[in-house]
Amino acid sequence: MALLETTEILQMNDKVHTFVLINPNQVDDDDVDLFVVQPPAVERDPAHHAPIESVIGPLCSACRAAFEYFSFWLDCHKSGAEEAAEKPPAACLIHQGAKTLQVGEDAQCHLCVLLMANLRVKRIATRSIDQSNIEMCWQSRDPKPTRLHFALTHRGHPRSSSNYWNILKLKLQNSSEFDETLLGITTTSQGLERHSNTRSEQSRDNALEWLKRCQENEDGNHIQCNPPSQDWLPTRLLDVASAMATSTVKLVQPRDDPDAFVADRQYVTLSHCWGAWGGAELPVLTTENLSERLGGGLPVSLLPQTFNDALEAAHWFNVRWLWIDSLCILQDSNEDWQKEAVMMYDVYKNALLNISADDSPDARWGCFRERQPLAVIPMHLRFPDQDDGTFWLLPDTRAVFDSVTESPLAKRGWVFQERQLSRRVLHFTSSELVWECCAKAPYFASETFPGGTPFKTAFNGKSKFQSRTTLDRPNSSPELYATWRTICEEYSAKVFSHVRDKLVALSGLAQEFEIAFPDDTYVAGMWRSTLPGSLLWGSSDSSSRLLTGDYVAPSWSWVSIDGPITPAGPGNSRTHSLVDITSVAAVPVIPSKPTALLQSASIGLRCYLQPVEVRPDYEKKPWYMLAMGGGKLHKLLVKDKDGRETACIDNFHSDAFHYSFDVEADENSGPESVSGYFLPLCLTQPTGSSPVAVSGLLVEPASDDGSVYRRVGILHVYGSHCYRLKYNARKGSRESVWADLSRLLEPTDEHLTVLEEGTDSDTARSGDLTEKQESGFEISENKTRDNGGGDNQVGEPRVEIDLNSVDALERLYALDATLHESELALEFERLVPRQITLI
Ligand SMILES: [Zn+2]
Ligand SMILES: [Zn+2]
Repeated sequence: MALLETTEILQMNDKVHTFVLINPNQVDDDDVDLFVVQPPAVERDPAHHAPIESVIGPLCSACRAAFEYFSFWLDCHKSGAEEAAEKPPAACLIHQGAKTLQVGEDAQCHLCVLLMANLRVKRIATRSIDQSNIEMCWQSRDPKPTRLHFALTHRGHPRSSSNYWNILKLKLQNSSEFDETLLGITTTSQGLERHSNTRSEQSRDNALEWLKRCQENEDGNHIQCNPPSQDWLPTRLLDVASAMATSTVKLVQPRDDPDAFVADRQYVTLSHCWGAWGGAELPVLTTENLSERLGGGLPVSLLPQTFNDALEAAHWFNVRWLWIDSLCILQDSNEDWQKEAVMMYDVYKNALLNISADDSPDARWGCFRERQPLAVIPMHLRFPDQDDGTFWLLPDTRAVFDSVTESPLAKRGWVFQERQLSRRVLHFTSSELVWECCAKAPYFASETFPGGTPFKTAFNGKSKFQSRTTLDRPNSSPELYATWRTICEEYSAKVFSHVRDKLVALSGLAQEFEIAFPDDTYVAGMWRSTLPGSLLWGSSDSSSRLLTGDYVAPSWSWVSIDGPITPAGPGNSRTHSLVDITSVAAVPVIPSKPTALLQSASIGLRCYLQPVEVRPDYEKKPWYMLAMGGGKLHKLLVKDKDGRETACIDNFHSDAFHYSFDVEADENSGPESVSGYFLPLCLTQPTGSSPVAVSGLLVEPASDDGSVYRRVGILHVYGSHCYRLKYNARKGSRESVWADLSRLLEPTDEHLTVLEEGTDSDTARSGDLTEKQESGFEISENKTRDNGGGDNQVGEPRVEIDLNSVDALERLYALDATLHESELALEFERLVPRQITLI
């Protein structure tokens, strides 16, 4: 079957359902940019082709045929059949439905085992697999493809880019170019053997080896994993030694029993999902059973499987103490909980390592898993017909740790901080143990790659933050603030059983960053020095909800939203603040723990408030109106301070503004109008030639006297046709201001046009926009205009400057300083700055 040019395929796609273009706009070496055809039955000439050999583990006939077809395809390219019409498709069908795949897995076919393991990681139901084809495809344009893609396509649906689910990517790595020590070939006497469960001695030995490598730090990459030893201990710990010896786990309070901790102070922690079951059934610690647990202890037979397994894993490392939240914090004492919850920073940071029960939705499921040994061994194939012979088929860079990042545990809010704060995490995933510490890649390790990953990125780029940055490096602040923004973004997408915990469960990380930012102040998930820019975070999911009930966070903090957010902060664009932050105040529930629960928080601002109404067009589907993005169907009414409409932008300049509400209004009743104010926060300009944007908050009054406001969304206004920014010289000597302006602006702006006395602002306004944008300034005088601010003398000639660039504004601010005593003041349309409080 002939291959066609991309453009032809796009034209044919409607008619010919068997063609599909995959990721047409995102071609990189990870994507298959080819269009595959309905895979043909594999055609080859058996006499001409020697069979593919799998060095480790067998192959079922279907999988072998697929690889032989791939070899045949390579031959077609080699033999010079370059004419497009002669090339066979770069894809083939391997399995139809789950049945043959399961047969292959049972027969230990290496590829079937890997496919099934990845389908389990992705939690795809057998029924879905049954309705699908499993295909293998590769880059058609590359005569020597380096990646093989395995995908599910649903039978009975037209093939399209959405009916194509990538389940596994394997990188073809020539054996001669691959460091096989990463596979543990030379480190274990058994060669490449893996055992059929993660409780095996071999799994344990790997884990011990990883800890040893981290602690010994021979390569110097594990400095962050090994901070100077601290003497800190949690309030309560479980005695692993007693549990192993007597089948009864005793609770110990180091304060009451210091002797027990003289020889042995090391402890490990557990990260686990409580789940709905755990909330009701876990044998939690209470004020009532405290003395019993401290005295006689709790029979291990009453512990759920995950806790039993955690005791066993702790014992692997010969560690005597184990900390588990539900068994070490009194679950019926608000006081104890609040005290302990803010200690998570110390609990996790001072632990030797954290045992992470990744694959268990609740504590019944345990840590250890049965598995197919071949699932954690890369394929090794010999292609007899190919010159360069033998290849490793390695799991794709970003897929290596999918079993961690796509696990039930990875979705939980509290666990995020537990993983981030821990020096070392031993992940118990669906198929293997995975090691993660604070060293940079490739110092992750898994049973597939016991010697570390051969890739630079792992965990889909969402590794522990210490692997991405170094907290104590001097002058690393911009990078660290960027890391904080990433943390906020990741954390905001997590799920909480109790959303009130949102600030508390981030408190440990905040404490960690407080050390790195000694001159900054943390308040409700934000850093004071990043204000006002960081206030421009956006809600990134239409299903997000406001946190209601008990107070959690102020409206200006992203923590006030239950849903994923896009953080904001100083990026590359030039920004200029339009507000003065006069105060930032927070009242914590526990005065000594300002990073934890809050009673209230507020920001005092001297700012402009532009009355604004955002209302939907009810002729259109109202719920569509509140979709994120500057859609074409909304109106923005800009009013002056008396409530008169001064501008109405209606399906006009659809790119001129962009607003989004933090949460959508009720879907059934349609979105509410917002009658409130636009609070411009800053002026931004990504590049010198791009239009200036005014970015700020949509706020609603929260008090009758108009002094307190609450955030409801964000608004960006682009270009000077929406908002005209002026810098007015007022009061004082006109001549001296004029002279100073001319003198000071001259060296920096040759094109400055000084309009002579008598030119009124309307004339200036109608001037050529392009010219204005080039100069960045337009200066005029206004003899008559009443600017409405109330404190200006009507009729006094003033120097008035239109601003078209952030640079120009910055220069004017510099000028302001030179002139002393504020001869100039920025005006935002007809408004004067006001002092308000944002809550
Ligand atoms: Zn197979
Ligand atoms: Zn380490």
